[in-house]
Amino acid sequence: MSSEFICSRCSKSSEPLTSPPLGGALGMQIQQQICQACWAEWVQQQVLFINHYALQPADPEDRKKLREAMKDFLGLTAAPNS
Ligand SMILES: [Zn+2]
Repeated sequence: MSSEFICSRCSKSSEPLTSPPLGGALGMQIQQQICQACWAEWVQQQVLFINHYALQPADPEDRKKLREAMKDFLGLTAAPNS
């Protein structure tokens, strides 16, 4: 195993996440491809996105929109849906 981790979003050698930030295959993919800095950016962006669209995280439709926005933001367009 290489100790060097290259983030697929910012293409920098960076610190990977220490654990998957989400459950399921998507969380695993994020941990394998996205660095801590890019994930932290999304966490901030997510708040703006939720406020802008007045999303209800308890609503499955809104969670789906948020998931799509996250995949766009992180460049995970080929990511699994669950
Ligand atoms: Zn990155």
